[in-house]
Amino acid sequence: MTQAHEQSSLERTITRSNQINAELEKDPQAYRVLTGDRPTGNLHIGHYFGSLANRVRLQELGVDTCILIADYQVITDRDGVGPIKDRVYSLLVDYLAAGIDPAKSMIFIHSAIPALNQLMLPFLSLVSDAELRRNPTVKSELEDAGIPMSGLMLTYPVHQAADILFCKANLVPVGKDQIPHIEMCRVIARRFDERYGRAEPGKPVFPQADALLTSGALILGTDGTKMSKSKGNVIELGMSADETTQTLKKAVTDSDRHITYDPINRPEVANLVALAALCLDSTPEAIAEQIGDGGAGKLKALVTEALNERLRGHREARLELVKDQGYLESVLREGNQRACAIAEKTLDEVRAAMSMAY
Ligand code: ATP
Ligand code: MG
Repeated sequence: MTQAHEQSSLERTITRSNQINAELEKDPQAYRVLTGDRPTGNLHIGHYFGSLANRVRLQELGVDTCILIADYQVITDRDGVGPIKDRVYSLLVDYLAAGIDPAKSMIFIHSAIPALNQLMLPFLSLVSDAELRRNPTVKSELEDAGIPMSGLMLTYPVHQAADILFCKANLVPVGKDQIPHIEMCRVIARRFDERYGRAEPGKPVFPQADALLTSGALILGTDGTKMSKSKGNVIELGMSADETTQTLKKAVTDSDRHITYDPINRPEVANLVALAALCLDSTPEAIAEQIGDGGAGKLKALVTEALNERLRGHREARLELVKDQGYLESVLREGNQRACAIAEKTLDEVRAAMSMAY
């Protein structure tokens, strides 16, 4: 693709995403959302403000929300995250503590849904080696991982298409960097119908999924780079108030005592200002003005108090939830059962379309 092409495709995606955001309120039942996380570590405040809050909003709007814990996707590029099962339960506890309601949102796990994974086979036949190799997101994630490309890494956009299409989701909340994956998912859905015909004439087996672009700014970690599970720069949702206070003390700032909100020239200070604004439902400008010449010390004190207050309910819920392993297991069991039923039904349609129903 030329640069001009890429630009117009990005603009189209942004326009469409804004349109859908407006439509969601009016007609939530027209959408099924697929979202999720890789259980590569414990969730942090970047996830809390960047994705969990939006999932709860969608759920409460009445949008059918499917949440995938993508355990198979951990092994694309990691082998040192510790026992995956522990990571899975940690994710689940944060989902529930944040307000995701398993009676409304379906929570399930990759490796527990065989029929979802089986979709990989026909889907792999629909993409070329060259298409997989030139995917910019795969390339950059490979660079971050710093390991040779595995077959699973190369094909993970196809796996992601199976995640989206097994439940016929038509909306996927993503950051801009994930747009190439949504595009691949749309291509696979289209090619499936072109190559294998249709289960029913005029009725495609799979929908065309749209991206719902994440609106908020990225939250930076204590080192001033993107807060990320794998970087050790995080404030985990499971930390205590004291641990949060200690961690925020280490956050890098700059030497200018006058606090302003300037994300370009003072990203670290702006990040703390924005975080306080998020916690206090205020604006970064108002927070910066409030601190004025108080310096980084006063800013950190405000952020610490606001964040600990904001997360208090989440943390209390977390502590209660971890005491009830039986309940957590039942949530996963029921979510997996529901997802399996949906996946089996879709796989049956795929078999029929491919003339492989015996
Ligand atoms: P990993 O190290 O496994 O890549 P991560 O911490 O970078 O983990 P992701 O799993 O890549 O987190 O992020 C999933 C989603 O969570 C993102 O698409 C985004 O919506 C949200 N998110 C993650 N980190 C942040 C952040 N620092 N600020 C805002 N949102 C974030
Ligand atoms: Mg990441």
